[in-house]
Amino acid sequence: MLDLEKLLQKAKNEIKEAADLAKLRNLEIRYLGRNGELTLFLRSLKDFAIEERKKLGASANKIRDELESLIREKIHTVGKKEIEERLSTEKIDITAPGRRLPKGHLHPVTILRRDIEEIFRDLGFSSVGGPEIELEWYNFDSLNIPKYHPARDMQDTLWLKEKPIAIKRGGENILSRLLMRTQVTSIQVRFMEKNNPPFSIIMPGNVYRRETPDASHEIQFTQMDGIVVGPDASLANMKWVMDAVLRKIFGKKVATRLRPSYFPFTEPSVELDMECFVCGGKGCSVCKRTGWVEILPGGMVHPKVFEAAGMNPRDHQGYAFDLGIDRICMMKYKIPDIRLFHSQDLRFINQF
Ligand SMILES: [Zn+2]
Repeated sequence: MLDLEKLLQKAKNEIKEAADLAKLRNLEIRYLGRNGELTLFLRSLKDFAIEERKKLGASANKIRDELESLIREKIHTVGKKEIEERLSTEKIDITAPGRRLPKGHLHPVTILRRDIEEIFRDLGFSSVGGPEIELEWYNFDSLNIPKYHPARDMQDTLWLKEKPIAIKRGGENILSRLLMRTQVTSIQVRFMEKNNPPFSIIMPGNVYRRETPDASHEIQFTQMDGIVVGPDASLANMKWVMDAVLRKIFGKKVATRLRPSYFPFTEPSVELDMECFVCGGKGCSVCKRTGWVEILPGGMVHPKVFEAAGMNPRDHQGYAFDLGIDRICMMKYKIPDIRLFHSQDLRFINQF
């Protein structure tokens, strides 16, 4: 049987000699831990006769309490001593320069978007925003794209599951579904409902399409629409403004061409192409081997759009355009694949 007195003496001596925290913790485990000598003894008491169990249990518990407080006390003094020692020997130079944290920077599309906003601001344009979750009415109907219009098929749309929202238009209540806006053109009528011409605005922002991503298509990209309404607004103005903006962006004269086109919200409609800077006009996957990249659909504002904004089309004229910021960014930095923008690849991002 375990000699309790002997164990107490032995433990006391060892505690006295232990000079550092690690040794003290070891002693604690050896005597009082889950499989410690004293713990095992206490556990074995159940095999003793009841009288003896009471007697031995009482003195074993007393010894356990004593050892516990001895070890605690010693840990406290030794710990304090160790801290004091460290404080007197270790030094912190608070004047030393800190370690520099890696710093992020703006995304190339954001940098370019801000630059282009600046260029337009110099030309007298204001920048206007709008919601990315949009009503079907502003995104399509108000832009002369009613339900079942084939132009809706050109923009594979991400519809939201939420219930349609009732809005009042032309004296009647209509239900309008919610979607991720497919074009920032959705801001046009929103703005014209509340502001009187003349005005020149740009509308930069993210748009969303249900696309299969390839070198020139992504499900999310950045557009910058513009609309100018005033008595002198014309396609000739638009061409001049665009040539001026492109010259500023690229720092040199950029070859452009106008092609007749069709958009539901402009009449007549045009497409402005610029020479492909990725391949220098020779043909590549970005320009679909044509040497030209379409960067700007535009045209004169359709009378139906003025009507949707509650304006009389006989009293107003204007031109509207849409700049593909991602495309221009690809041209400016000769980026061969639009998917790189959202690839999160630091080898790509850190070049800007
Ligand atoms: Zn090309």
